[in-house]
Amino acid sequence: MPELLPRARASQESIFARMSRLAVQHGAVNLGQGFPSDAPPAFLLDAARGAVGRLDQYAPPAGLPVLREALGADLGVDGADVVVTSGATEALNVLALTLYGPGDEVLTLEPVFDVYVPQARLAGATPVMVPMRLDARGWGLDLPALRAAVTPRTRALLLNTPHNPTGAVFSRAELEEVVALARQHDLWIVSDEVYDELYFGDRPVALRTLAPERTFTVGSAGKRLEATGWRVGWIACPPGTGLAGNVAGIRQQGSFCAPTPLQAAVAAALPVARRDGFYAGLRQEYAGRMALLAGGLEALGATVYRPGGTYFLTAQLGPAAPDAGTLVERGGVATIPLEAFYPTHGAPQGMVRLAFCKSRGEIEQALDRLAAALVPA
Ligand code: GLN
Repeated sequence: MPELLPRARASQESIFARMSRLAVQHGAVNLGQGFPSDAPPAFLLDAARGAVGRLDQYAPPAGLPVLREALGADLGVDGADVVVTSGATEALNVLALTLYGPGDEVLTLEPVFDVYVPQARLAGATPVMVPMRLDARGWGLDLPALRAAVTPRTRALLLNTPHNPTGAVFSRAELEEVVALARQHDLWIVSDEVYDELYFGDRPVALRTLAPERTFTVGSAGKRLEATGWRVGWIACPPGTGLAGNVAGIRQQGSFCAPTPLQAAVAAALPVARRDGFYAGLRQEYAGRMALLAGGLEALGATVYRPGGTYFLTAQLGPAAPDAGTLVERGGVATIPLEAFYPTHGAPQGMVRLAFCKSRGEIEQALDRLAAALVPA
């Protein structure tokens, strides 16, 4: 048998897949992988039922025209500049393959959403991680460190706001500094904004509004509409550049097109979600579940860093806490250890990410189990 490439040998099961597998295996409450317990909204499901059996063949690789138009209207861009992908993960991979390659460095933050690093490497580029600061103000951008990390090889800045896993929402002032840096060194900006509608304080600033000429925005119907398994994501390209054509050209080499009936359903659902206040309802519901989880953890002695957005919070569970592996196997609660998001620098000690897009019953059960697991032996 011929030998496998080192990159295939080095490729590991994602921390999200691993924790979900262990949660099933050990009957644990899954506060690890971020997928909602609630069903998607009826207006989305009804639209999908109406599309299956009617729209079952390939869509154009750039996306169904009705979905590109709906996304254009939703995001305040021209639909011609939008490319539909099979989930945000594919969108990020397509951008890695389009924008950087051998010899290029890609600047991103640590803790880092897990796919950024392997995707940059598969594209032949070198990911360079800049640690975020964590202090009394919570998580934030370390702008001096970001500036110091730019080299003549830097090609792109890859950020997400609201940020996974910390839940930080970067301020307009911080993002203006990021844009100034990108302009000074002529860098692309890849802005992963899959949690754009999930925030608890100020509305996140979309980077494309500050730097339209160089920003690619990644979005996700799975996150917006509570259907993470549908794999409908998108890329909004810099307007009026024609770059969507290049991006679609790379995109068609992956899954060719996202599932056609699901694209049609998302196209129908996006304006309904906006008109009917679906996102505001989601924010309100998740704010309540965040308070339930954060308050419960604090009552157990944990230090909680409350997020400005996303459906995750980070917490230090305390000195008596077992590690995340023991916790899922024997404590009955799946979490994501923050080390998983620190491929280069050291992670803050004993910190985990917990998802609160789960039912109140699951969150309460997790807190009961944590109360037992966090008692010093
Ligand atoms: N975005 C999800 C999370 O952070 C996981 C995505 C995935 O597993 N592909 O939990």
